[in-house]
Amino acid sequence: MTSLYRLRKPLLKWYESAARELPWRQTREPYRIWVSEIMLQQTRVAAVIPYYERFLARFPDAAALAAAPEAELLAMWSGLGYYSRARNLQKAAQSFEKFPSDYEAILKLPGVGPYTAAAVASIAFGLPHAVLDGNVMRVIARLTCDSGDIQSSKTRDRMQQVAAELLDPAQPGVFNQAMMELGATICLPREPKCGECPVAKFCQGRQAGKEKELPVKLRKMKMQQIDRQVLIIECDGKVLMWKRTDAAEKLVGFWELPEPHHLPRARIGERTGTFRHAITNHNYTFDVFRANVTNVPKGFVYINISDSGGIPISTTARKALQTLASE
Ligand code: SF4
Repeated sequence: MTSLYRLRKPLLKWYESAARELPWRQTREPYRIWVSEIMLQQTRVAAVIPYYERFLARFPDAAALAAAPEAELLAMWSGLGYYSRARNLQKAAQSFEKFPSDYEAILKLPGVGPYTAAAVASIAFGLPHAVLDGNVMRVIARLTCDSGDIQSSKTRDRMQQVAAELLDPAQPGVFNQAMMELGATICLPREPKCGECPVAKFCQGRQAGKEKELPVKLRKMKMQQIDRQVLIIECDGKVLMWKRTDAAEKLVGFWELPEPHHLPRARIGERTGTFRHAITNHNYTFDVFRANVTNVPKGFVYINISDSGGIPISTTARKALQTLASE
């Protein structure tokens, strides 16, 4: 990370003058900060403000929230959606007398994950825990020119580490909010306002001209489910197989068991088992059947499986043959 920590000063100076005035920024009371963080999960800032104010007017502290009838609680939440958030808030409020004041204890509250715990711990208690939400990840990916997939836990761990190193230990709560504010108002997803950015001179992504390409979010490939059948045709202790000869295939030279489309005249008998096999974005389910043929078609050979040590047999054929053992 080298000298990136030098951005603390300009970032904090910018935040001091540019921060939006939001109701939860007027307090360091853990209950109020916690309620705001829970409301802000999955909901935009502008939508949260009126709910936040009404909620706190009705439930000004954790004791009032703990004692509220559920119907009233849900009515106050009505319109924000994701009602489990409200139920968890109440469940948590009922679990303590005094709001927990360390990160681990906050993290144990129902409905609280690492992001919320770090936000409450740092803003309310000044504890050095760095937040990593979508905004902060985008800022860090650009600052450090990190092209790792932000959906991978490895990338997130790396970014969490950078966020922890960047964090200003003297004022972690303000610093966390400044990072989030930068992501929310300047370092925007599609059109970052680099010309107005207080930390532009530290930004490696911008220097490389890659700010709009970052962060990288790879689309997860949908796994395709495919059902297949393989046939085990035995004769004198040997098994009928065929060899892959297509040089373009990865498995060229490997021996396979036949499938029904290879042997349309085969008489298919009982099933010996089922197994799964995944290759890249395909999930195969193989059903294995015993079968008989009267004539051995061209390209098929009976192989002595018991001494097949020197013969390359494909993984799926091996798995299919193993079903014989468990018959
Ligand atoms: S210079 Fe641009 S890309 Fe870099 S942190 Fe600032 S706004 Fe984001």
